[in-house]
Amino acid sequence: MSTTAETTAAPAYPNVQLFIAGQWRDGGESKTLAVHDPATGRAVGRVAVATRADLDSACAAALQGFDAWRKVPAFERAKTMREAARLLKERAGGIARWMTQEQGKPLAESKAEILMACDIIEWFAEEGRRVQGRILAPRQAGVLQQVLKEPVGPVAAFTPWNFPINQVVRKLSAALATGCSIIVKAPEETPASPAELIRAFADAGVPAGVVNLVYGSPAEISQYLIPHPAIRKITFTGSTVVGKQLAALAGQHMKRVTMELGGHAPVIVAADADIAKAAKIAGTAKLRNAGQVCISPTRYLVHNDVRQAFIDAFVAVAKGAKLGHGLEAGTTLGPLANPRRLSAMQKITDDALTRGASVAAGGKRVGSDGNFFEPTIVVDAPLDSLLLTEEPFGPMASVRGFDRLEDAIAEANRLPWGLAAYAFTTSLKTAHELTHGIQAGMLWINQAAAPWAEMPFGGVKDSGYGSEGGPEALEAYLNTKSVAVLNT
Ligand code: NAD
Repeated sequence: MSTTAETTAAPAYPNVQLFIAGQWRDGGESKTLAVHDPATGRAVGRVAVATRADLDSACAAALQGFDAWRKVPAFERAKTMREAARLLKERAGGIARWMTQEQGKPLAESKAEILMACDIIEWFAEEGRRVQGRILAPRQAGVLQQVLKEPVGPVAAFTPWNFPINQVVRKLSAALATGCSIIVKAPEETPASPAELIRAFADAGVPAGVVNLVYGSPAEISQYLIPHPAIRKITFTGSTVVGKQLAALAGQHMKRVTMELGGHAPVIVAADADIAKAAKIAGTAKLRNAGQVCISPTRYLVHNDVRQAFIDAFVAVAKGAKLGHGLEAGTTLGPLANPRRLSAMQKITDDALTRGASVAAGGKRVGSDGNFFEPTIVVDAPLDSLLLTEEPFGPMASVRGFDRLEDAIAEANRLPWGLAAYAFTTSLKTAHELTHGIQAGMLWINQAAAPWAEMPFGGVKDSGYGSEGGPEALEAYLNTKSVAVLNT
């Protein structure tokens, strides 16, 4: 594994600024934070820190931007959004390199994330043209009864580091398609690529103040923006613990909320499944973004008749991973995004081993530079182990057997989360039972996750509420107004 290859050939990583009222600028006190390459641990750039005064400016700009943007016809808004998608696609190569430098994922995954973002922007741009109200039959002659859909107002969006662009783009696209303005608090650990997303919108001609970008102390910014009278809607992606705090604060101030939180996705492999295919699809999915994915498959529940065959095939997938710097050709598994995740992986593995589990693959840190951890498959971790009670958010999977489908469904539903779930079966009856029995916002059967823009994206239980895909995602940025006019 090399951690230096090609990094020197990459375009210089930028110093990232705030974007407020149509201007790129430093924070008011010129404070900055270092950005590190997780494959080497070395600092590659810096990001500006917003002060209270900067946040006030962003709120004032978002109010002005909202006033302008809500009056732009949806047809014209869609044109501007499509132009942003075009610019983003044109610039994808350079942005992908920065994303890999700041976040660690293999370059191909960074490119795929950006192209998916373009698709999301285009879909939302078109769907924004289909936001419709209703005319209702009146109870009295001469009355026109209308139901109008109006943009909710300036939005505050808080997004994490695992998908630096994709976590922003669903919120940004839904806000802009419905006529809202937005302040994005993007991740300080991975700031350059989301800034380029914002730049694409600015360059596409979105008026000043419609889109604003800040970085800084996440807790200070959320504590200030959520109660701020200018802000009408909060949207957050991140951990359940933080999501509950922000939702509570938003509740105190009666702000609309969308929460896309953690998960602990079960994968049920029935005895009749195509085992080789299931291991390849679900095993490869585990390695994506080094497992730092809210919908990452984690709890593999495999029928005891096929358990060993599945483990063998899964281990082959894990051992086939090529660890390395994401910019290095052929890398399929990059480092974890930050040292916190590295120590979490070790703690979870050690806890499982202490409690009697075995490791079929991996289990250790790789090298001493960067945050590399082996793809790890833990067999028979007890249900009260850390692995089966906390979201690992890394390249780590648990495999346990089951005999009866109802037991597998009960185990899948045991944890407080309910984001994604997966299953493999060739039986229609089993597929139906899973469809109705699994408590999750998203279920993929016999396939990897395919969270296309048109599909609702969101969870139930501790995984949050609201959707970031499909028409439901636009609804979350709209107010409903009933108007009745008596023609006198
Ligand atoms: P964390 O809980 O400290 O932070 C998660 C995200 O929330 C980060 O982007 C952070 O900047 C932001 N955040 C934290 N406190 C905040 C606050 N008070 N106000 C606003 N934003 C705040 O955890 P972490 O160490 O960065 O990530 C680890 C855990 O976070 C993972 O185990 C996973 O559960 C969760 N996570 C989930 C997603 C997701 O896609 N749902 C993404 C990243 C992290």
